Amino acid sequence: MKIVLASNNQKKIKEIKSILTRIGCEYEVLSLDAIGFHNEIIEDGSTFEENALIKARTVSALGYIGIADDSGLCVDALNGEPGIYSARYAGEPCDDAKNNEKILKALDGKEDPERSAAFVSVIACTLPNGKHFTVRGECKGKMLKTPQGESGFGYDPLFMPEGFEKTFAELSFDEKNGISHRGRALEAFAEIFPAFISEN
Ligand code: IMP
Repeated sequence: MKIVLASNNQKKIKEIKSILTRIGCEYEVLSLDAIGFHNEIIEDGSTFEENALIKARTVSALGYIGIADDSGLCVDALNGEPGIYSARYAGEPCDDAKNNEKILKALDGKEDPERSAAFVSVIACTLPNGKHFTVRGECKGKMLKTPQGESGFGYDPLFMPEGFEKTFAELSFDEKNGISHRGRALEAFAEIFPAFISEN
C-alpha cells in the first residue's frame, strides 16, 4: 500500500521511513517530491493537530492516503514556546543554527529544573473520503546550555532526553528513533492504521 508523507524535510522523511520499518509497517512511503507536488503548504493552524491535518489533507485531496507529522519543541520556562513555531522560531527562512541561538538566549540565566522541555509530534492520517485520525507522541528532557553532537537536525544538539546523558544529536539514528516523540507517535499510528484502513 502507498501512503504519501506530506513533507519535504529529508531528515524527517528518513526518520519516519526508518521508524515505520523498525516497527514492522510495510507501507511504501512517498514524499511530496515523489508525487510531483511542489507547492508550499500554509501551516496556519493553532495546534500541532491542526497543522498536521492541514498537511495530510493536502495530499488526500489529491486522492492519496495522507500522513503528516507536525512537531516541535515545548520549553516549560518559555510557556511551551516555540511549540508550533519551532521551525521558524528565529524567522524565515527556517535556520536551525539561528533557532538554537535564539532559544539559548531566551533561556539565559535559567538553571535546572527550569530548563525542562518536551518534544511533541502529532501524526495525522487522512483519506480522500475525509476520514482521519491523529496520534501524539512526546519525549521529555531538558535544554543544555551549549550544543553537543552533530547528528539529527533542528534542536537535537541542545536537547537531552530524560534518562540519558547524551543529547539527541549524540545518540545514534536508531537510538533517537527508539525513544523520540516521532517514534512514539508512529508506534501509536501503526497500532491504529490497519483497522482504520479496513473500516474506511
Ligand atoms: P514542522 O516541520 O513544521 O513540523 O516543524 C518541525 C520543527 O520542530 C523542526 O524544524 C525543528 O525545528 C523542530 N523539531 C521537530 N522534531 C525535531 C527533532 O526530532 N529534533 C530536533 N528538532 C525537531
